[in-house]
Amino acid sequence: MEKTDIERRMAEFRSRLKKLGLKVTAQRTAVHEAMLKLGHASADMVTEEILREGKTKVTVASVYNILTQLASLDLYQHRMSSNNKMYFDVNNRKHMHLYDTVNHVHMEISDDILYKNIEDMLLSKRFKGFKVDGLDIQILAHPTRRKR
Ligand SMILES: [Zn+2]
Repeated sequence: MEKTDIERRMAEFRSRLKKLGLKVTAQRTAVHEAMLKLGHASADMVTEEILREGKTKVTVASVYNILTQLASLDLYQHRMSSNNKMYFDVNNRKHMHLYDTVNHVHMEISDDILYKNIEDMLLSKRFKGFKVDGLDIQILAHPTRRKR
């Protein structure tokens, strides 16, 4: 993401917090900045990124609380991973992922037509006793080349 893009999204984030009646704290700002860089990350990864930047003091617990709070306010989405970690996604628009099962990384697949086709097909189905809330499409895959 470009620097100006990050600045614009940070400004959006600050006004979003204010609208929600939340204070723009150094910790919340640091969490969001790290999330914009990482895209998809667990609390551990976000904490590591913030500490690497070295501007703000955080603990994994405080980062986890902020991520969970922001997800409950729909600023982030939850993502399942197969290494039993809760991942958060900074992109809260409809999209699908390719999940790298070796490196545990989520990659976005920007294919609106494919998403729409799958959505139309699945949402037209009825699941007895359930009402569908949404889809979380994740393609599991492993890299075909070994890392050097
Ligand atoms: Zn995503």
